[in-house]
Amino acid sequence: MFTSGRRALLRLAPLAVLPVVLTGCAQSAGSDDDTVHVLASFYPLQMIAEQVGGDRVTVDSLTPPGAEPHDVELSPAQVSRIDRADLVVYLSGFQAAVDEAIEQTSPERVVDVADVEDLLTLEQEGTESHADEIDHADEDSHDHGALDPHFWLDPSRMPAAVDAVTDALSQADPENTDEYRANADALNARFDDLDQRYTEGLASCDTRTFVTSHEAFGYLAHRYDLHQVGISGLDPDAEPSPKRLAAVEDIVREEGVTTIFFEQLVSPKVARTLAADLGIDAAVLDPIEGVTGDADYFSIADDNLAALRVALSCS
Ligand SMILES: [Zn+2]
Repeated sequence: MFTSGRRALLRLAPLAVLPVVLTGCAQSAGSDDDTVHVLASFYPLQMIAEQVGGDRVTVDSLTPPGAEPHDVELSPAQVSRIDRADLVVYLSGFQAAVDEAIEQTSPERVVDVADVEDLLTLEQEGTESHADEIDHADEDSHDHGALDPHFWLDPSRMPAAVDAVTDALSQADPENTDEYRANADALNARFDDLDQRYTEGLASCDTRTFVTSHEAFGYLAHRYDLHQVGISGLDPDAEPSPKRLAAVEDIVREEGVTTIFFEQLVSPKVARTLAADLGIDAAVLDPIEGVTGDADYFSIADDNLAALRVALSCS
């Protein structure tokens, strides 16, 4: 009697709670959950928001994982997600479609990381660019003198972006300010460590010149006293001219360059062909614009350091 009563109660219990559970699900699946909804325009900014926000935030990226972010296109649905986000983190001057969408919408809060990074031109970074080859008469057809967006490849520049995101999250969710600050401090310490590894790892090398298909490593070169020679330009889809290729070949021979770097997200054909023609190596240097698999910013940055140390014969 007692046993069967309990069993009946157990059978009834799930039915009794069912409507409550459904209501709960409906709420958390909508936009009313209590996390801060952050939309980042591409991977390094997404990573910062995830690390600083932890469980308190839901972070999405406007650039799909593994996609090349420069020429990202946004669907009307993505533009309306910008409008509904609690916080949008982007880098003006990097992704034209995102710049345009931010202008058309009015998200709750926006962090433009370009406001806190003192961005440089390739010339200021000392990059030997394909843009140097272009006639001045032809000036407005190209990115000559344009600001280089790729600040995230210099780890010492990351804390400024981290702090800007942390301030914005703290304004969006003041109750958890201490937690955001603690996460930011831990993240910034990792960037400091990485900067230290780069400084030490690249201190003593046989050559300081490296050739790369996509001129993404100007800030890295500037920070660690290296010399980037670009083949294709700031935009990885640009095609190099025969004149540019000939100039790069001369530099390779004169400076004893051992390796032409290419990246995974963009066709390596030009870099591979050039390396084969010159009888030198082709290797990956990843601009950390998107990630795939288990890789993250820090693992890729360490892979890049290892690749540079081999190519430059660092001790
Ligand atoms: Zn790039």
